[in-house]
Parts: sequence; structure tokens; C-alpha cells
Amino acid sequence: MPIRQLPDTLINQIAAGEVVERPASVVKELVENALDAGAKRVDIDLEEGGVRLIRIRDDGHGIPPGELPLAVSRHATSKIASLDDLEGVATLGFRGEALPSIASVSRFLLASRHRGSDHGAALEIDGGRLGDVMPRPHPQGTTIEVRDLFFNVPARRKFLRAERTELGHIEDWLRQLALARPDVELRVSHNGKPSRRWKGEGDLLSDVRLHEALGEEFARHALHIDHSAAGLRLHGWIAQPAYNRASADQQFLYVNGRAVRDRSVAHAVKQAYADVLFHGRQPAYVLFLELDPRRVDVNVHPAKHEVRFRDARLIHDFVYRTLHDALAGTRAGVVGGVVT
Ligand code: ADP
Ligand code: MG
Repeated sequence: MPIRQLPDTLINQIAAGEVVERPASVVKELVENALDAGAKRVDIDLEEGGVRLIRIRDDGHGIPPGELPLAVSRHATSKIASLDDLEGVATLGFRGEALPSIASVSRFLLASRHRGSDHGAALEIDGGRLGDVMPRPHPQGTTIEVRDLFFNVPARRKFLRAERTELGHIEDWLRQLALARPDVELRVSHNGKPSRRWKGEGDLLSDVRLHEALGEEFARHALHIDHSAAGLRLHGWIAQPAYNRASADQQFLYVNGRAVRDRSVAHAVKQAYADVLFHGRQPAYVLFLELDPRRVDVNVHPAKHEVRFRDARLIHDFVYRTLHDALAGTRAGVVGGVVT
């Protein structure tokens, strides 16, 4: 075959392979967009585990009608404009590929009203085929509907699991998000019935939220930590060693508000617990690491589950030291800041 330029839709479908694994990844990308738009309330309606329908409505700043086609164009973003912006990026998104990718593998609707505008507008895309921008009443904010995910990609469809499983993945992810953003109200419905509601309490990691997300036992054994040094801040909750897990299912790490997996930080935590936990048992924690965005590279993977620290060693030692000292208190029988 001769070399040829691929059509846009196919390019988007290829990118979708990296960004959109299952309904939970769609929910993740869309809710992150809502948060980047400053939403304080996000409604998430699902049907059949999100495979039939994912509808996300937010009360964020919205999109002007003239920009709707751009929102679904590849490499179009309002979040960065230069390499310098990329290096200091503080929003959850910046790649400008979630919407075009999702729209290329579903029946997609985008409706919005921008905060400065009296009129709403909508745009439909069917498996990547772009419709016209039409006027449509809409409260300030944005609604995105994703129907029949992977209807045109049978190979992907095949990998979708039972409704329960897909819903479980969505709920896992929403819980992760809810822990980080207690100021945002999240309402979830599944097959027409309300299924979950996280109130926008305002108060960071209120006890209620900790209870809801990780259970009463965790909350009862949680030590609150908040330590800053060398431009780094680590805060959150770690479980006293008496509360431990068989698996790593209650380990939540956020870097500048983004949920990530990081081997080096996980290792530092493990080290700190090394002599207080039985071999093979896992600690439980919800930790927030805050640092200058310029000290961390978030552009490592399209799905943004990983970051790369400019000074990984320093961060490792900081995390280790902070947790080690906090746990030393429990060793001496001094229990401070227990959440009850
Ligand atoms: P990215 O988030 O990386 O910029 P996306 O493809 O997810 O890329 O979104 C493209 C653009 O569409 C965003 O930069 C933003 O300007 C706009 N957008 C998407 N979702 C929303 C939303 N819920 N509210 C306001 N603007 C949005
Ligand atoms: Mg995005």
C-alpha cells in the first residue's frame, strides 16, 4: 500500500484506543472537564453500566456556541497555549483529545451555554460524523451525552463486561474523585434510579466522606497528617497499623489533586510502615501531595494515571520521613488526630 494520510475520524478512533478503555474512562474524562470548568455540581446519569448511556451535566462556565466544533476537534484545548503552559499545567486536562476520541466511538451530543451568553447551543456527532451547531436552551454549564459506546468498534465492544462490572469501575473512580473534591456535589443515577450522591460539603475530607468512601473502620484508625517542607506539602489520612488490608485497595494518592499511581511514593509509604505492619499486609491511606506544578511532569501517558517528578528522590524521602514520624507517634502509644 502507498503511504497515505489517515482520515480524521480514524485518527480519533486510534487515539480513543489509548484514552477510552471502558465507560469508566469516559466518565473520568467528562467529569474532569466539568471540574476544569469550575463546576460545583455534576449529575451523572448512566444506563446499562454506561454502555447504553453516559450523560454528564455540569454547572461550570460552559462553552460559547462558536467554539463547540473546536471542543470536539483534535488537539484543540482552552487549557494550554504554549510549552511553558504545559510545564506548569494545573488543570486536569490539557491534551485536547478526550472529546474527539469519545465522539469517534459513540453517538455523541454536546450541549452548552456559556456564562456570558443568553443562548445555549448543541452539536451532535455520530460515530465521528459532525453535525451542525443548533440553538438549544440550556442552563449555564454543559451536558454531554455518550450513547452506545463502541457501537462502531466491535473489537472494543467485545471487551466490555457485565453491567455490574462496568458500573463498579465507574463507582470506584467516582469515589476516588469524591475523596479529592469534597467541595463538589456528585449525583449518580443508574437505569433511572438515583444510585449515589456525594454532597458538596465544602469541608475538605469531612469525616462523612471518609466514612462513606473507606468505611468506619478506616475512619476510626485514621491519623491525620499535614506536613510541609522544601516546597512540598503532604496531607491526608493514614491508617494506624492495626488497620491493614490484604490488598492495596485502599491506597489513594493525589498529586496536585490528580489521582495517580506512583511507584516511588508507594515505595516510600511501604518503607515507612515496614516495621509496624505484618509481612504481606497492606497499609491504607488517602494522601495528597502538593507541589509547584513545574516540579512534576503530568504529560507521561494519555490517560494521565502517572506523573514524573523532577526530584523523585527528595519526594520519596519527604514522604517516607513524614509517615515514619507520624507512625512513630502510634508506636509510642500517642494517638493524635484520630478521626472518630
Ligand atoms: P482537554 O480537557 O484536554 O482540553 P477535551 O477534549 O477533554 O480536552 O476538551 C476540549 C475542550 O472543550 C476543553 O479544553 C474545554 O475548553 C472544552 N470543554 C470540554 N468539556 C467542557 C465542560 N464540561 N465545560 C466547559 N468546557 C468544556
Ligand atoms: Mg479533558
